[in-house]
Amino acid sequence: MNHYLVSRFRKKLKSLPVADYHGLKSPGLTCYLNSVLQVLFMTENFRDALKSPDQQRASKEPPIVDPELRRLFDDLQKQLAETRKITEKLGITDVFEQRDAAEYFEKILCMTSQDASKIFKGELNHRTTCCKCDTKNDSRSFFWILPLMMEDSRYKTYNLEQGLEAFFELQQVSGDDQIYCSRCDEKQNADIKWEITQHPDVLTLLLKRFTFDYKLRCYVKLHCKADVPQTLHLEKCTYELYAVVNHFGSLTGGHYTAEIKSYENGQWYSFNDGRVESV
Ligand SMILES: [Zn+2]
Repeated sequence: MNHYLVSRFRKKLKSLPVADYHGLKSPGLTCYLNSVLQVLFMTENFRDALKSPDQQRASKEPPIVDPELRRLFDDLQKQLAETRKITEKLGITDVFEQRDAAEYFEKILCMTSQDASKIFKGELNHRTTCCKCDTKNDSRSFFWILPLMMEDSRYKTYNLEQGLEAFFELQQVSGDDQIYCSRCDEKQNADIKWEITQHPDVLTLLLKRFTFDYKLRCYVKLHCKADVPQTLHLEKCTYELYAVVNHFGSLTGGHYTAEIKSYENGQWYSFNDGRVESV
């Protein structure tokens, strides 16, 4: 075969759709949902946990969206799949209204049986310490996502590890932000600290790319670059990056895609609604 034919053949191969994974047919502008569904599909333990309807039948808690997810994931293994049943189950009536991917990620997990959703579930403790009498107040709550505020900087790259450190740093509140202490029976300066009391198997971080612009009197998107490490150490846990959901455009309109590493072959793929390409 001559070089010309080889290069033509390579070009042709590149233009062919990758058959390893399949896209999702959007009934409207539901890219926020498609991206999240592909992440869940590509999460091995989540997909496997959905495969066991017998366990779910035995459990007291009724799985709300499990059957629809299971059907969708079965389809996704064979062909371009469609999400109409899921959008109905999630109560999405207007499929042309753009929504938030993180919100729907949480919504799906809340509507999924614990067998499947538990791998994303972590627990946080919020401790306040009164600066006058040293009384400590602990309040625990579970989380699916850790939200990290990004800085308003067009020229600086956001460092995720530093952002995470800042989230868990001790904060001191005073003035208008003082906290009521039941022992002192009045508002006092206080120390506030978040800590993870239960690390999730899969850690989901949300980079909050918005800030209030006082000149424009509205929230605007922050377009700064973010440095996301392949391996993240969080206390005793080590997390390997395998999925990123991207948002393009402004806060009022835009498009979501997902880049996900396959646990089956170790390759990264870009999921863009109906299209899937290897990266
Ligand atoms: Zn006190």
